[in-house]
Amino acid sequence: MREARAKGRIHLVGAGPGDPDLLTVKAARLISTAPVLVYDRLVSPEILALAPEGTPRLFVGKSNGNHHASQDEINAMLVRLAERGDDVVRLKGGDPFVFGRGGEEALHLAEHGIEFEVVPGVTAATACAAYAGIPVTHRGLATGVRLVTGHCRADAPLDLDWEGLADPDTTLVVYMGLANLPELSERLLAAGRDADTPAALIESGTTPRQRTRTTTLAALPATAREHAMRAPTLIVIGRVAALAARLGWFRDAFRPPARVARHA
Ligand code: SAH
Repeated sequence: MREARAKGRIHLVGAGPGDPDLLTVKAARLISTAPVLVYDRLVSPEILALAPEGTPRLFVGKSNGNHHASQDEINAMLVRLAERGDDVVRLKGGDPFVFGRGGEEALHLAEHGIEFEVVPGVTAATACAAYAGIPVTHRGLATGVRLVTGHCRADAPLDLDWEGLADPDTTLVVYMGLANLPELSERLLAAGRDADTPAALIESGTTPRQRTRTTTLAALPATAREHAMRAPTLIVIGRVAALAARLGWFRDAFRPPARVARHA
């Protein structure tokens, strides 16, 4: 029988939004020295390339359909690897504790007596907004910001605090919001948020494939359809979204270079 000390340790590491330069120094160090990497769909190939050749890379990407079953499998895999004595770098897109189910994995490890650490990462909300030229708070435009998920269990309605989210002084950042965009927009309008509230869709933010489209709350679903926005896309709703037109600085993959800073 192994002693507890012979067990491996799990590093729950935030890989940031995609641009490898946005990794923390700690994440970069762990990736380049990891005995084993376990990674999600959102971790970019550029980031995986920082691991030495020959490092085992275990892909545990999930699609919405099999979310629950595979989360159990991931939890079990991490425990199995640690019990075998492996130190594991468990890479997650963005920050592991922001809509990353990192909390669930950490709880599972804690319950099984597996040692772990959590390395925060740059989350999509701040990273994508910055690369789109949107300060999520701004004097005179937004006094606060709320991060919410637009994803819900199959057949369940979105269960959000609509009255609170209708506050015009709060920037709303929606993760996983594409599929339920019509409901999201309608519920916010019904709760009293202005139809002309500026909004932005940011697809594959911080990567060479980034696309930003600005619109209004009422027109969000139509804009997403018209431009065929695909996951991962982050949605920013609030007065600050209008600043993208003036502050957008990152090259937009689908626009000619002369119009770099002009997001329509
Ligand atoms: N833990 C991650 C979020 C995981 S949830 C984080 O902290 O960023 C997945 C959602 O995050 C996606 O559906 C999308 O809404 C958002 N997202 C993550 N990376 C993104 C990116 N590079 N560009 C746009 N949206 C992104």
